[in-house]
Amino acid sequence: MTIAENFKSLDLEITEIARNNGRNPEDVNLIAVSKRQTQDKLRAALDYGHRIFGENRVQEAQEHWAELKADYPDLELHLIGPLQTNKIKDAIALFDVIHTIDREKLARKLGEELKIQNKSMPCLIQVNTGEEPQKAGIPPKDLPDFLHFCRVECLLDIRGLMCIPPIDDPAAVHFAFLKKLASEHDLAQLSMGMSSDYPKAIALGATYIRIGTALFGERDI
Ligand SMILES: *Cc1c(COP(=O)(O)O)cnc(C)c1O
Repeated sequence: MTIAENFKSLDLEITEIARNNGRNPEDVNLIAVSKRQTQDKLRAALDYGHRIFGENRVQEAQEHWAELKADYPDLELHLIGPLQTNKIKDAIALFDVIHTIDREKLARKLGEELKIQNKSMPCLIQVNTGEEPQKAGIPPKDLPDFLHFCRVECLLDIRGLMCIPPIDDPAAVHFAFLKKLASEHDLAQLSMGMSSDYPKAIALGATYIRIGTALFGERDI
């Protein structure tokens, strides 16, 4: 199948799954994850008409998108990977949404830089739902304090939560848990679901699904 066909069939599938679960398909936003894909494939997605893309590294995202951004003013870029504090300025310049607020130092420095630039940036907090030591994200029990810190001390515009479930666990358990946490804190956005598990994520309330290989094929590197 071509990239355009992949997009078309996924768009149809998202609509169907959303409807079957009593959800409005327009509330499920497809983030096409373009990390480690070729420029030709990104062009094909743009030609199809897709405009929302996700990247997990700031520098690679610049290589992929800095020039294209000028040609496509309606492009929407999401940072879905870890953000180092020395890349905050670059991230603010390039991205429209950051999904990976995961520690106090990052929240504080991002808040400071946004204030200096007089800008605002919709953000999500990454939650380590599986409490895996090697994985980014705040422990679930810290969410109330961290959310308060981000909003009150750092003046960040926190819209929702993001998670990456442990590989060995049923993803649905983590999606349901993230949904519960978001509801408790009145957060509207839920970033969850990748190529292997997006149907469950949509059924359980995802507002952003992050799909790479199911759209673009295997990554290059
Ligand atoms: C790479 C990546 C994805 C996309 O993964 P696929 O399995 O290719 O769909 C989604 N979310 C994050 C955080 C990623 O790093």
